[in-house]
Amino acid sequence: MNLSNYSPGVQKYIEIGDKIKQKQRHLIESRKKLKFDTIAVHGLYSIEEALENNQGAVIEPLYLSTSQAYRDADEMEAALAYLMPTWSYTRIANPTTYYLEWTLALLEGYQTGCDTSCVITSSGMSAITSAIDPFIVKQKSGEEKINIVATCQVYGGTFQLFTVRKMQERGVEIRWILHPDDMDEWKSKIDENTRLLYGEAPSNPQQSFFDIEEVAKIAHQFEIPLILDSTCATPALMRPIQYGADIVVHSTTKSLTTGGLAVGGAILSKKPITTKIKNDNPLFKENFAEYVKFLPYRDNGPAASPFNALMTLNDLRTLRLKMDFLSRNTMKVAEFLQSHPAVYQVDYLGLESHPLHKIAKKYMKLVDSDDGKGNPVNRYGHLMSFRIDGPPENARKVLNSFKIIWRATDLGRIKSLATIPAISTHQQQGEEARQMADIPPQLIRLCVGAEHYEDIIADLEQALSKI
Ligand SMILES: *Cc1c(COP(=O)(O)O)cnc(C)c1O
Repeated sequence: MNLSNYSPGVQKYIEIGDKIKQKQRHLIESRKKLKFDTIAVHGLYSIEEALENNQGAVIEPLYLSTSQAYRDADEMEAALAYLMPTWSYTRIANPTTYYLEWTLALLEGYQTGCDTSCVITSSGMSAITSAIDPFIVKQKSGEEKINIVATCQVYGGTFQLFTVRKMQERGVEIRWILHPDDMDEWKSKIDENTRLLYGEAPSNPQQSFFDIEEVAKIAHQFEIPLILDSTCATPALMRPIQYGADIVVHSTTKSLTTGGLAVGGAILSKKPITTKIKNDNPLFKENFAEYVKFLPYRDNGPAASPFNALMTLNDLRTLRLKMDFLSRNTMKVAEFLQSHPAVYQVDYLGLESHPLHKIAKKYMKLVDSDDGKGNPVNRYGHLMSFRIDGPPENARKVLNSFKIIWRATDLGRIKSLATIPAISTHQQQGEEARQMADIPPQLIRLCVGAEHYEDIIADLEQALSKI
């Protein structure tokens, strides 16, 4: 960049900006040396910053202001050319959302050996849209037929986004992977027009999983990125970037905000990502999340509310402890359901009987844990599903009989919740697609909360006795 194009007044602000950036880099490096829990509690908010800028407030301040004022025209020019750190306007950036972005970037990058960056969005769906759109752009003037290769066992909203919004409305071909543990199937579906591989692990609700490391290798052989929805795992149980994923998306609405008071999403990327897309902006490859934030995000407008960002930030400080506790609760509940005569199948990756248990075991480990012999302990999250014997009516009867477990199409909560995906989250995709994704009407999805597990089991027991 040629700074001599700018007046001495603007240059003065660029220099001030460089000092701020240097200080920020220093803080990031020192935070990276801390443990996961410490990063989750403090993020990038420091004592020094609190005392200098925020009246000493111990908790990150909530900036609801839509915009930032500048000292003079020179500062405005330097800031809006992104030549100094600025937030400018809440659709583009905001000091409160900044704290959440950095906390997530540090947690998702924790012990991966990679530098990461993050942009948070208004919802999980807007994070997924913002993550894939930059790859499904025309490259040549010709008639190339762009395609995406994705696991078919994905969140219902993602299935709709891909099939209706992208395939039917925009002509992007979606090639579904039916058996994500079959590497030959992945290879056979990729061609020169494949722009990205997409997967969800563990998947909602079926608890599908795949060998992330192997799939990332295949993606990189074809010079394309692997994008992974890691909502159900959270960085406390898995950090896919360590295994080669290029971009991770989250619905922060779920286990990252167990309190259930904010919808939100996040895109995390490693630096650089693998892609053969030609983009004039070097950030696209070098720092994808930042590229999204500065360009398409600014133009498309999926910005998160600072209030929601603070809710999430506040909840995720104890993420590791919660995911440990919730996972242990879920294991107890899954074991109970597995031994119940009215239940013909329990899908929980933590159960040894689950066909994908071995592969999940390789990946899902509680961060900074120790089994006493120097190995991390496996934890599998708090989402599970179970299938009730007999006609679909039985599943409805069980659902209707819950007294403590809430009937709600939600997950990741501190309170236990259950739904029948075939009539809720996965209703729109139709019978055929549900069969492909193995979601029969007998399946109840249960997300186990932080109640005492004996009370949850008692509630399930009395509900199952009704059929
Ligand atoms: C809920 C969910 C989403 C969508 O997130 P929203 O915040 O509801 O937009 C995406 N992926 C998974 C796995 C989810 O559970």
